[in-house]
Amino acid sequence: MKPSIYRESQAIIDLEAIRNNVRNECARLTSEQELFAVVKANGYGHGAVKVAQAAKEAGATGFCVSDLSEAIELREANLSDEPILVLSYVNPKYAKIALDQNISLTATSLQWLTETEQELTKASTTEKLKVHLKIDTGMGRVGLRDESEFEQASELFKTSSTLEMEGLFTHFATADSVAVDYFEHQQAKFLNAKSYFNQKIRYIHTSNSATALWHQGWESNVIRFGDAMYGMNPSGVALEEPFKLMPALSLETVITHIKELPPHEKIGYGITYETTDNEWIGTLPIGYADGLRRKYQGFRVIVDGEYAPIVGRICMDQCMIRLKQVYPIGTKVTIIGDNGDRNNSAQDAAEYIETINYEVTCALSDRLPRIYL
Ligand code: PLP
Repeated sequence: MKPSIYRESQAIIDLEAIRNNVRNECARLTSEQELFAVVKANGYGHGAVKVAQAAKEAGATGFCVSDLSEAIELREANLSDEPILVLSYVNPKYAKIALDQNISLTATSLQWLTETEQELTKASTTEKLKVHLKIDTGMGRVGLRDESEFEQASELFKTSSTLEMEGLFTHFATADSVAVDYFEHQQAKFLNAKSYFNQKIRYIHTSNSATALWHQGWESNVIRFGDAMYGMNPSGVALEEPFKLMPALSLETVITHIKELPPHEKIGYGITYETTDNEWIGTLPIGYADGLRRKYQGFRVIVDGEYAPIVGRICMDQCMIRLKQVYPIGTKVTIIGDNGDRNNSAQDAAEYIETINYEVTCALSDRLPRIYL
């Protein structure tokens, strides 16, 4: 789907904010650590290629994505030399494609390792596929869990002519929480798993943004830096940022229609809003098909430095707001970002719809053009 460029609703991405966040995190790393930019899900809605390029300019030395298509998109955008790691399951039948494009894959299970070996043997490859072995230390998603599996995997890599063990990693479930007991439980599990692998492994990694920010990038010579790179606090508001994260994304639209209604007029599907007075009602060209979920009904957008609530149900392509006065058609409306002295953060939006900031930006659909500063 092509972005709707003839409509003035857009996500504006400040690439300098991304560069700043990467630079600031890189400055905290030890000389043995590097930073991979996590650009899965179209760069958390910000645009994977542009974010990857900006992150690289600021010091990122590799990228993480969630599937093979996302990895290939980066390679096709001339990010040709940096390591790219696919973090989620890739069907072994596609392993040769990854190998041909020098893309590293995650081994999610022993079965995956044996099937991928078979696929590559069938394909008579001469090069080895780079593999990062995932240990499930308590996230319960993917990865090896048992000591007997660690032994078998270690042996398999030692003898394999098609697979190279490039990485060993895990993912924490609670690195963004104040409570550390489960984090410590996962740490112990990872150290135990690691002790089964005495071969040389280029990348050992456990650190998402939260582990990097609040646990000194524990047991990681590479940081998988996602949410914080986009200027969002992965803990929401639970933990204080060790340095100022600069939000990269603003969501803006304009007033396309405005009218003054008398009391007792109804607004939107299901007539969930009724005017109580003479009220100025503006219409915006953005709706749930753009990622402005129906749960945002009542959320305060910003017009001319003043808050204005979304009234009535959000439609697929439009929504209505209540204004204090008449404004010209084309007046800017900020849903996320700064407007005058007011600001709505992705976190404010997340709290309003009872989710996390990640989901707010990831939800923005392809229909919204991304404008880069
Ligand atoms: N590593 C893995 C395995 C992930 O799934 C994710 C994101 O969900 C990340 C790293 C990046 O996490 P964050 O955005 O919290 O930095």
